[in-house]
Amino acid sequence: MRIGHGFDVHRFAPRVSEHKPLILGGVTLPDALSLEAHSDGDVVLHALCDALLGAIGEGDIGRHFPDTDAQYAGVSSVFLLEQVCSLVSARGFALSNADITVVAQLPKLAPHREAMCSSIAAALSAPRDRVNVKATTTEQLGAIGRGEGIACHAVVLLEACE
Ligand code: MG
Repeated sequence: MRIGHGFDVHRFAPRVSEHKPLILGGVTLPDALSLEAHSDGDVVLHALCDALLGAIGEGDIGRHFPDTDAQYAGVSSVFLLEQVCSLVSARGFALSNADITVVAQLPKLAPHREAMCSSIAAALSAPRDRVNVKATTTEQLGAIGRGEGIACHAVVLLEACE
């Protein structure tokens, strides 16, 4: 078995852009907020990609998809996650489970948690019950608590395939 942890933070853009809707866990949220990013800014999937890459000893998302590379400008993080999943499979591992904690003062994430779990499980080609998404605030403490951005932690466990 292999374990991996990922962490990512993105700040909210000073101006909301219709070209950068808020996408978390592959789900486009209706809230009028934009995260600054070279990609689509899906901080949840970035943390998850890093956890998966960490578990197989493959560095991090920045090494595989550099933000200096124009081909990843605005790229869908679901696509990045699928690439990472292919690498995990190629190394002979399959997901046992993923546990994800989104840290955000805003927007309210509870209404979107189920959609995020389903979306992530689909991107991982994993059963829905292998994926758990939790959301917490920081009780208005610090940068996240001031609503300046969103952070996310992800932990994954992988099992070697037979
Ligand atoms: Mg990121």
